Amino acid sequence: MSLENYIIYISYLNKKLNGFFEKQYPYICCKKGCAKCCKNGEYPFSALEFDFLMIGFSRLPSGLQDEILSKIRHLKEEKQKQNKETFIYECPFLLEDECCVYDFRGIICRSFGLIAINEHGNSKIPFCAFEGLNYANVLDVNTKIISSEKYKKLGDVPQPLAFNVSYDFLTSETIANNFKLDFGEKKPLIDWFK
Ligand code: SF4
Ligand code: SF4
Repeated sequence: MSLENYIIYISYLNKKLNGFFEKQYPYICCKKGCAKCCKNGEYPFSALEFDFLMIGFSRLPSGLQDEILSKIRHLKEEKQKQNKETFIYECPFLLEDECCVYDFRGIICRSFGLIAINEHGNSKIPFCAFEGLNYANVLDVNTKIISSEKYKKLGDVPQPLAFNVSYDFLTSETIANNFKLDFGEKKPLIDWFK
């Protein structure tokens, strides 16, 4: 039942996020083949999201599944070697700069790229702004905040806004209660694999 409700939630979330991305069009550079955000993260997944991802995985050709599992094994070895609190890696589901489980990807994969409001009420600008991508045209790189001067220079365009799209909020108890979901445990994507 929870997976059925999750599919309803994902469809609602996709609509919401598409609306936000559309509203922010002057600042958004996301396009097929831009995959910096899939090469630079830990990718938190809840148990529920992971179950859904595995449906996508099970539909891949077996050779591709083996390739992904082999990448995961190597990443897990590297993580163990580094033995650091945070291990940043390229997502093993990224193939030739495209997600091979796109329709089954996680919530962080769907929401990344907007300015998010974190649990303390602060705005979090996506890291790709600092690499010339989303919001780079209104970013003050020295202060690391959105520049109202740069925004004004763009003329008659919608304001750059922060949205309530942090991973913590989108997988919160409030959302779980509203959509009758049980997200379960959350951990970095590769940690779900034995
Ligand atoms: S969020 Fe940034 S890195 Fe990711 S696809 Fe969009 S522009 Fe590219
Ligand atoms: S699951 Fe797909 S969208 Fe998400 S990080 Fe991996 S490659 Fe990127």
